[in-house]
Amino acid sequence: LSGFKYIVVGAGLFGTTVAERIASDMGLPVAIVDRRDHIGGNCHSVTDADTGIECHVYGTHIFHTKRRRVWDWITQFTQFNSYRHKVLTRYDGRVFPMPINLTTINSFYGIDLAPSEVEAFVLAEAARDRVEEPANLEEKAISLVGRPLYEAFIRGYTLKQWETDPKNLPAEVITRLPFRHSREVDYFTDPWQGIPLGGYAEMFKAIHAHENIHVFLNTDYFAVRDMIPADATVIYTGPVDRYFENRFGELAWRTIDFEREVHPVSDYQGTSVMNYADPDTPWTRIHEYRHLHPERDYKAGGTVTFKEFSRHAAGQDDPYYPVNTPADIERLEQYRQLSETETNVLFGGRLGGYKYLDMDTTILAALEMFDEKIKR
Ligand code: FAD
Repeated sequence: LSGFKYIVVGAGLFGTTVAERIASDMGLPVAIVDRRDHIGGNCHSVTDADTGIECHVYGTHIFHTKRRRVWDWITQFTQFNSYRHKVLTRYDGRVFPMPINLTTINSFYGIDLAPSEVEAFVLAEAARDRVEEPANLEEKAISLVGRPLYEAFIRGYTLKQWETDPKNLPAEVITRLPFRHSREVDYFTDPWQGIPLGGYAEMFKAIHAHENIHVFLNTDYFAVRDMIPADATVIYTGPVDRYFENRFGELAWRTIDFEREVHPVSDYQGTSVMNYADPDTPWTRIHEYRHLHPERDYKAGGTVTFKEFSRHAAGQDDPYYPVNTPADIERLEQYRQLSETETNVLFGGRLGGYKYLDMDTTILAALEMFDEKIKR
């Protein structure tokens, strides 16, 4: 690392975007170190050995954006397929579209409302419980959609996702529960959406192919930090608390465990992601990756699924979703102030900022960091 003036920690989307700009816009060499044995961070994909189906190792990733700058940048390296994401949820032995829409409501209640009738119906349902000043998430949700829809689609899923009864979560977590008056089932409304045609692994390979980009895998920043020249600029996309040796305490994360299963059928659940809303089903979702590439001619007679289980992250667990308790928010502010005093180190990405970021937001934040703080 001794010859590099720019060192990026983390080969995920944030680090990769910054490195690509340094390599092609500034025309300078850049090193990327990542502790994992692959590039791509949490967007990484692999071809399943048994079925030949491309799997997203850290959970289903759908690219979607309304930002032209992001779209123009990413499409230099990949084309996208025509996949449009739809989420279904299984509750009490039946399957419903999510987010809650006209079809969900009609089929849940066994009625036949028109789009113009749904608002008044839901308001009347919500009014039955007469929650005036919601004191927690449960009361807030009931005040917005009524108890039956809350108990079916929100209570169990939230309990599993956060291991906390919604009664013990703050009401402010939701300001408005989106339910659709139409039968629209596309999960995202952005003009540009899809899955990279060649998969995420190939997309990252294409970006990293630039001759100025030098990648060092299986390399933990903290093990090589002493080799970094004092005048080099470091772009750090690892966990911010770890950078400062957890001086103000650890920031809390949720992690995910996946259980891979191969089934001797061509289609296991008829969709890419099925949520499980019943509180007594221990998993939150099942991902079936073959559906993400309708354009591919995957072999019939075998499909692979990942069952997703959510729990509190501890020790070496991969961080997935920031918990954001009031204590976390206070700690984050302390880390943020400290990181501003660090010379020659810029912090970014979902781990560096302790923030859930969609892929397009990650790319935009990286492009802006490059423009404002790196480009000379
Ligand atoms: P990461 O991808 O986490 O990359 C950070 C990298 O830093 C990692 O590779 C890590 O190994 C490395 N690192 C950390 N510490 C060190 C160290 N000490 N030394 C060396 N390397 C280190 N976004 C969407 O737009 N659509 C989706 O459908 C979508 N689905 C998602 C599903 C899940 C379950 C999750 C958790 C996220 C999803 N996202 C989705 C968000 C997407 O994953 C992020 O936008 C993206 O991963 C952020 O990239 P990053 O570079 O900030 O972080």
